[in-house]
Amino acid sequence: MRLQGKIALVTGGARGIGLAIAKAFVAEGAIPVIADINEQGAGQALDELGASDGLALAVNVAEAASVHGMVQAIVDRYGRVDILVNNAGIGGNTPFLDITPEEWNRTISINLTGAFFVAQACAREMVKHRSGKIINIASLSGQRGGHGRAAYGAAKAGLELLTKVMAVELAESCINVNNIAPGAIETEMAKFAHDQATRAAYNYLIPMTRYGTPEEIADAAVFLSSDESRYIHGHTLNVDGGFRAAGLMFRGDKAAPSS
Ligand code: NAP
Repeated sequence: MRLQGKIALVTGGARGIGLAIAKAFVAEGAIPVIADINEQGAGQALDELGASDGLALAVNVAEAASVHGMVQAIVDRYGRVDILVNNAGIGGNTPFLDITPEEWNRTISINLTGAFFVAQACAREMVKHRSGKIINIASLSGQRGGHGRAAYGAAKAGLELLTKVMAVELAESCINVNNIAPGAIETEMAKFAHDQATRAAYNYLIPMTRYGTPEEIADAAVFLSSDESRYIHGHTLNVDGGFRAAGLMFRGDKAAPSS
């Protein structure tokens, strides 16, 4: 029960990685706030968690007014927010030459500006209590130049830098800020975005030869939300089966994907 009684906001918590994080938080005693653009999904997720003391809220993280309404609803109900997981995001695999201004702006507005709106609104509450944990969900695509990842990768790279600045500025208010950078994780987003060839390439390039699970990201989120991580600050924790660490991948038993 490492998070007993903590008010834990997970954006994009209706499904996928966010839902797995909310479940792990509840198992550690936290009170979950699931906020998602899919309001019905957020409500169903809360029911699934069986957390009658929790809250399900509608939010569009890309709209400042919507974000402020969400944080106000949390403060009205609980008086504070202890943990924020900035998880809401959209995928994208359009080649650099084909990205339209609309797709670029949409990706940046949800994956980067949205995370900024939510973090700022929550941090303004956390400073009043001189306590808080913020975890931004970045991506390995923000660290490596993946094909089709121009807008998505740029947003996630920006989020990593934003995390460092937040860590520097919020340390004096005892707010702990870190990133988790997932590699390829088996979620609806990945099923939609990764075709057969992409999956084969990932399975080859990941030393552990498999996609990760949402629960493996959730375990990292529990650690970074707990007191055990109190001196880890401004850090990016890659949870990627070794994808970032790998160089030459020569395995006699495994051919490189031909497609
Ligand atoms: P997911 O299954 O698509 O879940 C994302 C959730 O966020 C959905 O419920 C989605 O609602 C919601 N959402 C989308 N836009 C929103 C908005 N503007 N405001 C509020 N909520 C919004 O995705 P996931 O795979 O769990 O990914 C979660 C996070 O991990 C994302 O930030 C993603 O970039 C990151 N990540 C994922 C992977 C991976 O391999 N899966 C790898 C690296 C990083 P709708 O379903 O209605 O759109």
